[in-house]
Formats: sequence, structure tokens, C-alpha cells
Amino acid sequence: MKYYSTNKDAPLASLKRAVIKGLAGDKGLYMPENIDLLKDFVIGEMKDMTFQEIACTVARALFGDDVNGDTLDRIVIDSLPFDTPVVPLHDHIYSLELFHGPTLAFKDVGARFMARLLGYFIDNEGVRDVNVLVATSGDTGSAVANGFLGVEGIRVYVLYPKGKVSPIQECQFTTLGQNITALEIDGTFDDCQALVKAAFMDEEMNEHSKLTSANSINVARFLPQSFYYFYAYAQLDKIGQADELVISVPSGNFGNLTAGLFAHWMGLPVKRFIAANNRNDVFLDYLKTGLYTPRPSVATLANAMDVGNPSNFARILDLFSIYPNPYAAIRKRIAGYRYTDEDIAATLRRVYASYGYVLDPHGACAYQALIDDKLTESETGLFLETAHPAKFKNTVDNILGIDIALPPKLRAFMEGDKQSIALGKDFAGFKDYFLRQ
Ligand SMILES: *Cc1c(COP(=O)(O)O)cnc(C)c1O
Repeated sequence: MKYYSTNKDAPLASLKRAVIKGLAGDKGLYMPENIDLLKDFVIGEMKDMTFQEIACTVARALFGDDVNGDTLDRIVIDSLPFDTPVVPLHDHIYSLELFHGPTLAFKDVGARFMARLLGYFIDNEGVRDVNVLVATSGDTGSAVANGFLGVEGIRVYVLYPKGKVSPIQECQFTTLGQNITALEIDGTFDDCQALVKAAFMDEEMNEHSKLTSANSINVARFLPQSFYYFYAYAQLDKIGQADELVISVPSGNFGNLTAGLFAHWMGLPVKRFIAANNRNDVFLDYLKTGLYTPRPSVATLANAMDVGNPSNFARILDLFSIYPNPYAAIRKRIAGYRYTDEDIAATLRRVYASYGYVLDPHGACAYQALIDDKLTESETGLFLETAHPAKFKNTVDNILGIDIALPPKLRAFMEGDKQSIALGKDFAGFKDYFLRQ
């Protein structure tokens, strides 16, 4: 399958090229040209399949032209040694727990798949020495670093803002060693992101070595996220609850929601999606006005959603461009809600008091959006719980007045030795460091 650019001004790319380049030459995002639809009976049979079996089926539809089936199955199975269970909360409301992977957040799914796919291209298709640069405010860095740990031929540089990442988050990418290098930048997350962007533009750095990104602009990171939408549907189908499914997604860069839209496009029956935002609500503004106006992000309790210019918005527009009125079609398919920090705290408290369930601040937005959307009797609501609440221990403990236990996986990270390289936020210093590697 070929990939085109959302800006329509770059040549079609193979999967290999799209994964290694990340962004198209015209700065657009790559989109798969023609995806196989999954037949109704195939989706119907998923209720008796495991997560891994379903993921292999969906992966073959997405990537089967480019990687042979058995290899693809192995990549999928190696990527997903964990489950993403649907858990009933109350009255037709279910939590899709996406936090059972190694770094306890949904980004493990895409990061691990991308690492193994890239590893396959390196082992078999003559790709040499790839450098992955990733700027992080916390969660992306840990998922990417752990996903790529030990994959030969790939070096990962995680750029993070000094003093602005929680100790729990920091230890998940600074204690790994091997092919993972943590760069502690004396600046903000925006400074880190600016350094990565400047590196991709810099001729000398690109000549020195192959550079790619591992955030959700990369097709190998966001498309595999469609796997768990099918699996969630299958779990609900098995208990007769999948007929009118409403799915609420806590959204930042909108990679997760876009993967859900792709699943729907491939044939997954979903009645509508909900984009749940924190105070960074440019998408909600778009739904209300039809105008898309990026803004600088503001800091919130749900910090992985602090995004002022969601990169996957271009993909959403492109997906709906087949309709005569794309804006009307988007509004029909996706509802939007936004929550302040006070709202998030109130939701955490209410759900804990009523159901004994500890939400994380991101999942709390998605849960509350389902409630505010006022589902009908016949509808089932599913919200994506994107991270384990212990990843935001300080916030959650403070709001709920509890002392939530650290899962063993997190505790193990905390016991490692921090290794990171301190750099300033100026590009010259970063480039100089990089060229010496
Ligand atoms: C990254 C992240 C999000 C936002 O996902 P996008 O795909 O960027 O919309 C939501 N919740 C958590 C916990 C995250 O880490």
C-alpha cells in the first residue's frame, strides 16, 4: 500500500519510506491510500478471538501488502504481550483500560509496534542506523524509550525539560541505558520540541545520520492504535452491548482518536466518537465554529493533553474531505467536550466515591464527556482510560486523599540509576553534541 501526504504535494511513499521519514517532504502527514475493509462476518467473529489474534487480523489489512503475513504476526505478537480489557463501571458505561503495558499508558501499543517494524526494515531491507528523536513532556518519552529499548540499529534520543517532568515519569526513560539516551534540556517542553523540529530541518544533521520521529505523526505509531478499538468492540459484542457504541477519547494530538476513525472506516460499527479535551480546546472551538485556530498550550492536570495545535487534525480533515461538507460530516461523527482542572478533580472524586474506581486525569475527561453526552437507554458508552492513575500519583493522591500503590513495573523503574546528559536549549549546542555521536 502507498501513503500520500495530507498536503498532496509530495510523491507517494512506501510503508518503509513513510515510517523512516515520519513527515512527508511537503510537511504533510502520511495517509494510507486504500485500506482493506474488514467484512462484517470477520468483525463478528472477533468476539471469540484474543487481543493478539484481532491485532494480527487488523495488521494484515493495514500492512499486509508490505510485510509478509507471518512476519507481521510476529511483529504484532512481540509488540503486544499484554491485554487491553474492557471493564464495566456502571449503567452501560465501560472503561477500556489501555494501561497494562510496560510503561502503563496506551502509547506502549504504537511505540512497541513501530520499534519492531523499524527493526524488521533494518534487519531485512537494507535500512541502516536510524536515530529516533523524541521530545516529551513525560508520557511519550517513556513509551518510546521502552518500546525501542534493545532494538539493534536504532538509537533513541529523548529530549525532556529539566525539572518539569515528574520523578515517576523521568525514571522511565533515564534509567534504561543501552540504545536510549536521555537529554535533559534546560528549557520548556516547547523548547525541546523546537530542537527536534530544527534537527529535522538541518541538512548537516540529516547527512550525518538518518533521523525520524516516533510521535503520532508516524504512521507506524498511530495506525496500530486501531487494534484495540476492534478488540474493545469484540469484548462488548460478546456480552451483547456493542450495538450502539459511543466511544470517548481523551485527546491531545488526536492520534488516538484518528486511529478510532480509521477503525470505523475499516468497518467497525461505532455510532459516534467523543473528543474529550482539557482547557486546550482548539478542536472543540472548531466543532462549534468551523474555524481552526491553533493556540499556545496551557498547563493542566491532564498534561499529556496539553496541546495547542494537534498534529493529527490534518488527518481528520483529510479523512472527511470525501464528503461534500466535511465540517458537517465531522460534527455528525465527533462530539466534543472540555474540562477544567476543577472539573477533572470533581470527576475523580465522584467516581471514586460512587464506584471505588480510580480514574487518571486523562481518563476522567473522557468519562465525564460520556456522562455529559447523555447517552440514550440503548447506547453503550466506552471511555479510553489511557494511563494508569499511579503515573499521576501526586495529582491523584492529592485529589482523592489516598495513597495509591505503585505497580511493581513503576517501582522497578524508580530503583534504577538516572543517567542523562544536560544540554542548554540553544540549537547550536544540541547540534554540536549530536554531530559528535
Ligand atoms: C498521549 C496521551 C493522551 C493524548 O493522546 P493523543 O493521541 O495525543 O490524542 C491522552 N492520555 C494520555 C495518558 C496520554 O499519554
